[in-house]
Amino acid sequence: MSEDLFLKIIAREIPADIVYETDSVLAFKDINPQAPLHVLIIPKTHIRTINDIQLEHAGLLGEMFRAAASIARDNGYADDGYRVVMNCNEAAGQTVFHIHLHLLAGRDLSWPPG
Ligand code: AMP
Repeated sequence: MSEDLFLKIIAREIPADIVYETDSVLAFKDINPQAPLHVLIIPKTHIRTINDIQLEHAGLLGEMFRAAASIARDNGYADDGYRVVMNCNEAAGQTVFHIHLHLLAGRDLSWPPG
């Protein structure tokens, strides 16, 4: 999958169902949802994997988690619960190399994950 896919969504070169946006963060529905609510939260800055996160990104990461909580709350899942996941590299299932939080809600989520 293209390294630039999410940059193209940010640039509106590829359509997406955008649910949340600030100057630094964008969130849109996953094209292949794994739960009734499955949203991807991405930074507008390109960061390839968790391994590339620097201390200067701390505020940005905080914004991404606040966005996840806000979207979960707006969809009525704050009290029942939801899951936020970020995969790193191939063994964990990362296919798009621009960091993204998966926000999953609306069904029972088993643990440990597969
Ligand atoms: P990961 O496997 O953790 O890298 O997650 C990548 C996610 O991006 C997958 O859940 C895909 O379904 C999702 N995805 C891929 N292309 C698109 C797209 N064009 N719009 C929305 N979600 C996408």
